[in-house]
Amino acid sequence: MSSLQIQVRIKHQEELDPDFANSIAALPGGENLSRCIQCGTCSSTCPVSLYMDYTPRRIIAMTRAGFKQEVLASNTIWLCASCYECTVDCPREIKVTDIMYALKRRAMEEKVYPKRFPTPVLAKEFFKSVLKTGRSNEGLTVTWMILKTAPLNMLKQMGLGLKLLLRGRMALGVEKMEGDPTQIRRLMEQVEVEEKKTH
Ligand code: SF4
Ligand code: SF4
Repeated sequence: MSSLQIQVRIKHQEELDPDFANSIAALPGGENLSRCIQCGTCSSTCPVSLYMDYTPRRIIAMTRAGFKQEVLASNTIWLCASCYECTVDCPREIKVTDIMYALKRRAMEEKVYPKRFPTPVLAKEFFKSVLKTGRSNEGLTVTWMILKTAPLNMLKQMGLGLKLLLRGRMALGVEKMEGDPTQIRRLMEQVEVEEKKTH
């Protein structure tokens, strides 16, 4: 008998989240979620589906079926490169890219993204920097991302950082927008209020 064992876990109906699909469908871009016919066009046109743990077609199916934990913890939503191929080609006019964004936001709200996965950490640091200074401050953003996800890589990345600094592609200090940066925070808060009103 082979020593290789494959574990299969079957999810029970009561473990699914029946409200998950509706909550995603209610977000901008999610309106056609229920129209998916599982044709697989999105997966076949997606340039990065090869590297995803679930293809875009499966993500749509699992979202509709209420597999909230699996969808939010998947690497798929973070590997999506926002190229919009799937959205353009979907025969049911489903905005797959926007759904990926909605899932990313939800994963960040619920903190269920893969541990030490750099993309959500990078996104958070980016938003933090923009909210605070009105600028993206790449150097600081990337430094925090590395420290929070793979601190041992810091030394390896220092050479690259130095080259970028010397070529003027990255700044050392903190850049701030002209005027009052709190305007950005107030603007974003207003967007959130408006978004909540539409749900
Ligand atoms: S292309 Fe559209 S209809 Fe086809 S599987 Fe993807 S989301 Fe569903
Ligand atoms: S938008 Fe994302 S999911 Fe859609 S094809 Fe591009 S990379 Fe794939």
